[in-house]
Formats: sequence, structure tokens, C-alpha cells
Amino acid sequence: MTQQQVINNIPPGYLNLMGYVDESQVNGPGSRAVVWVQGCKRECAGCFNTASWSFETNELISVAEVAEKILANPGNTGVTFSGGEPFWQAEALAELAQTVKKAGLNVMSFSGFTLEELQGDKAPPQAAKLLKELDILIDGPYVESLAINSPESPVSSRNQKVRIFNPEFEDKITWSSDLVEVHILKNGSRIVTGYKGQLNFC
Ligand code: SF4
Repeated sequence: MTQQQVINNIPPGYLNLMGYVDESQVNGPGSRAVVWVQGCKRECAGCFNTASWSFETNELISVAEVAEKILANPGNTGVTFSGGEPFWQAEALAELAQTVKKAGLNVMSFSGFTLEELQGDKAPPQAAKLLKELDILIDGPYVESLAINSPESPVSSRNQKVRIFNPEFEDKITWSSDLVEVHILKNGSRIVTGYKGQLNFC
């Protein structure tokens, strides 16, 4: 099956998720729910989420259910989309963004596409719809030869850019892509996230 056929197999109103975490402090400003989507065909050397590359179904979950999960935790003041490539599931993420924004949360996304590509003719379907909902976009692929390892930097490689669409966030670009965070879940399993956008289960 091609990547497009796999994406087309996701029912409308659903996301193919790679992972989820509440109250992350290292994936954007403030305390955030992070939604990692499954599927990325970029294959950047040095990618920290190679398990996200496959477009096969990992976890199908409705947008309504993800929104409910995010809003059930008052510790989430914003939401970050990561991956995988969020813009291959742009329509469902735009719907999710609309729902959480109505509840007062802000929304940010990472993308391996540049902003220019997302605004161009070859952008993934509904990219404009998702762009319209974002307060912040971190765009551009991870380029290992341009890697930054600094507690001062919100991006992982020098080519990536922080696009602030909502001026309220001009002075809130304070997180670092160089930090690691460990979440211990109720079932005892752990999620390690933060460093260069990674998501690891252990
Ligand atoms: S670094 Fe990001 S854009 Fe690159 S392969 Fe990994 S998930 Fe895809």
C-alpha cells in the first residue's frame, strides 16, 4: 500500500497516533499536551523518532477523544503536534486545534516541511487549514550536520525556524530542545521526551 493509500484509510475525524503525553514542559511554551502522529517519509539522518516513520496504523483514535483527553487535564495550557509529520494528518489536527482553542488552549506544531512548502502548490492536503490554527510553527527538517546542542535553543538544527503567528508568544520562546523529560505513567511504564522532539517508551 502506498503512503497516500494508508493516509486515505484513516477514517474522517480520526488520527493515527504514535503517542501522547500530558503536561510536558519541553515541547513548547508552558505546560503542554503533546500529540505525536504516526507517519513521516522524510527519513532525516539522526532522527530521534524513527518508530514514527511507518504510515501503517499504530493507534486510531477520534479527534473528539483526543480533545477530551487534553481538556480533562487542567495542567495542559497548550497543545503541541509532533511526529512523524503532523501535516500529513492536517485536516484532523486542524479540527483538534479548533476544539482545544475554543477551550482557551494555544496550539503549536513541528513540521519537517518549510513554511514556504506548506504554503505552496505541493503542500499536503489541508495544510492551509492547519496553518491557520497555529500560534507557533517550528518548520524545516532535522539536518544532522546543522545540529544544535544548546540549552538556549528551541530548535534542533540551525535550518529550522520558529514562526510566531500569535504575537502573544513573542516573549515565550523559552523552552530548549536540549532537555529531557521522563513521564512515569499510572501503569508504571515511562515516556521519555524532549531531546530533539524524541518520544521513547520504556
Ligand atoms: S526528524 Fe522529523 S521530519 Fe525528520 S524523519 Fe524524523 S520525524 Fe520525520
